[in-house]
Amino acid sequence: MLLTPGPTEVPDRVREAMAREPINPDVDPAFVELYESVCEKLARVYGADESGATATDHDVVVLGGEGILGLEAAVESVVAPGDDVLCVANGVYGEGFADFVSGVGGNPVVAAVDHDDPLPVEEVADLLASDDYDFEVATLVHCETPTGVLNDLDPILDLLDEHDVLSIVDAVSSLGGTPVPTDRIDLCLGASQKCLSSPAGLTTVAVSDRAWDRIEAVDPDSYYTNLLPWRSVVEDEWFPYTHLVSNVYGLDESLDVVLEEGVESVFARHADAAAHCRARGAELGLSVVPGEDSRSSPTVTAFEVPGRADELQTRLAEEHDVTLATGLGDGADDVLRVGHMGYGAEVEKVDRAMDALEAVL
Ligand SMILES: *Cc1c(COP(=O)(O)O)cnc(C)c1O
Repeated sequence: MLLTPGPTEVPDRVREAMAREPINPDVDPAFVELYESVCEKLARVYGADESGATATDHDVVVLGGEGILGLEAAVESVVAPGDDVLCVANGVYGEGFADFVSGVGGNPVVAAVDHDDPLPVEEVADLLASDDYDFEVATLVHCETPTGVLNDLDPILDLLDEHDVLSIVDAVSSLGGTPVPTDRIDLCLGASQKCLSSPAGLTTVAVSDRAWDRIEAVDPDSYYTNLLPWRSVVEDEWFPYTHLVSNVYGLDESLDVVLEEGVESVFARHADAAAHCRARGAELGLSVVPGEDSRSSPTVTAFEVPGRADELQTRLAEEHDVTLATGLGDGADDVLRVGHMGYGAEVEKVDRAMDALEAVL
């Protein structure tokens, strides 16, 4: 049983959809229709809140490539050489944005706090007000998957609005599992292999009008990571490269699974699975990394198991056929993560994993 925080288990329905005969996406008009329909379904997941699916006003595009592609493409498309970029971070992915910014010749200014602290709202306010910098773009992470932290983005997005700064948000591990404030975000990044329970291979991006304007102004030199051609792929019936047809079949089916259940029910299922996971962990004397349940993500729980994560992971797999994840980066061996995401967000599945963890502990 695979309960990692991505890639997640893929339901049979999605695997069967991927086995359909591939069409030629460069030649067959049916592909443009399929792509457009996938983007429409995705827009409803992007815009969903606890009361159900409402499409985001922003354009949604689907790129052929694993989730990291979206992070790099977003930065490449809106950051020009010499630009100051505010990278707000309380974890590995938040800090990693600075590398993409440096890669395009931008100047990353990192407002970072410890991985178990909330985002530094006051430091961000000071930096935005400072005469030392001229920020046009800021980067943020919604769910820091390595630590199971779900960040409250609103206070930072309020500040970015006040200063007219464009936002890039990595929502890869929250999209489809909990509401994402997509309509407030200029470039909102998702991927197929987390809460959507498709295999790795597709990146999703919701793009605001002002982000498109900015991309046009920057006019990126890159090709694979340039978002600009994606603005008009449906209208032009032309894609910058051959799309991943089988993955798109899979994502289409994954979105049907989510929308048929109802997004509000999907979100509630994630919240229940997460609460159950933490309650079972508390019974075993395990603490969560964010220190408090209220800042833990409904999609992933990171338990503190100092110096034991590798051993526990191996024994869970060998003795109980349950696959969980360790941490990432420094202290990877100190954190054991349960991904209750997408197809895996079920109280019964969490129970099976936690029964196994109890036995191994
Ligand atoms: C999974 C994930 C990504 C995508 O990258 P991987 O190569 O799958 O790690 C990006 N951002 C976050 C926050 C993720 O959880």
